[in-house]
Amino acid sequence: TATAAVLDPEAEHSTDIVPVGSSEQSSPPSPRLHRDLIAYEVKVNQRDIEDMCICCGSFQVHTRHPLFEGGMCTPCKDKFLECLFLYDEDGYLSHCSICCAGETLLICENPDCTRCYCFECIDSLVGPGTSAKVQAMSNWVCFLCLPFPRSGLLQRRKKWRGWLKAFCDREAESPLEMYKTVPMWKREPIRVLSLFGDIKKELMSLGFLERGSEPGKLKHLDDVTNVVRRDVEAWGPFDLAYGSTPPLGHACSQPPAWYLFQFHRILRYARPRPGSPQPFFWMFMDNLVLTQDDRVVATRFLETDPVTIQDVHGCTVRNAVHVWSNIPAVKSSRHSALDPQEELSLLAQDRQRAKPPTQGPAMLVKNCFLPLREYFKYFSTELTSSL
Ligand SMILES: [Zn+2]
Ligand SMILES: [Zn+2]
Ligand SMILES: [Zn+2]
Repeated sequence: TATAAVLDPEAEHSTDIVPVGSSEQSSPPSPRLHRDLIAYEVKVNQRDIEDMCICCGSFQVHTRHPLFEGGMCTPCKDKFLECLFLYDEDGYLSHCSICCAGETLLICENPDCTRCYCFECIDSLVGPGTSAKVQAMSNWVCFLCLPFPRSGLLQRRKKWRGWLKAFCDREAESPLEMYKTVPMWKREPIRVLSLFGDIKKELMSLGFLERGSEPGKLKHLDDVTNVVRRDVEAWGPFDLAYGSTPPLGHACSQPPAWYLFQFHRILRYARPRPGSPQPFFWMFMDNLVLTQDDRVVATRFLETDPVTIQDVHGCTVRNAVHVWSNIPAVKSSRHSALDPQEELSLLAQDRQRAKPPTQGPAMLVKNCFLPLREYFKYFSTELTSSL
């Protein structure tokens, strides 16, 4: 059956080699053809797969692929880092887990896995025609979820989560350390502390909060004036701390920077001890009310640069927020398309005059929480709303 062909750990022995002189030679060189040479190089020329980029077939290897045995060139490494934690609205990763490119993607059907693989990777590394067999299968689980580590040339690395963390710490330019992702059988429900702005609806729609039993999973506070370290420690421990400035036009008794300082104070109480391997995430969102000076202070206090996340309809920016966070992929180019600052301040003035937007500002950052699926249990695989 197709299943056996794909799942057979000995499949590498039955893999057809695409010889250099195949009929495809007459067509112009394509990345596809280049990649088919990987199998030829390994099997005929006895080249070590670690000496080739398994994403594109290049021999200019910069580092090792963190998930599977094989090398990686510099452009593919950059693309991989950029796309590693990018999710689509449907809750699946947006790119192939091997090459971070690929047009048609096959989705792992393990409900706890969100990975996708492109046809080209599967055909060139597992064996020609494998993608069609996978597509015909009703319940396919991916190369990181299968019980055995090898499929054709594709060999999962032992302790790949550790490899992935080391890869990100070594290659990424971010000053923030990446937490090791958590195997699905060890993931626990997330425990959230939210200050000022509420993200219950967003986390609920992503499946992070179990319906009907939310008390204890999410602690929301509007006023933290009298909160001391002992309180936070008694309510905790927490996995995610969220805070925001009030939306524009919202009457509040405190200056905007007060929310930043209070968030920073409470964050210190909620954080695990330095060096703790326990994943701990935080996000501070500014609804465009902080001044330029306040934002500089925020960047210094939170030790990371902000990104601007916008709600764009046609060519009009309807809403935008600034976000400081240590959640992976928040800084990817998908979110950081920066608008000139003047445009944003005009937008802020406009919004102050106009009615507040119908959708809450937290909606804008909803998808930034999706990478937390690699760390925490989620209860619903059907994303209930993308609004
Ligand atoms: Zn490459
Ligand atoms: Zn791929
Ligand atoms: Zn999987």
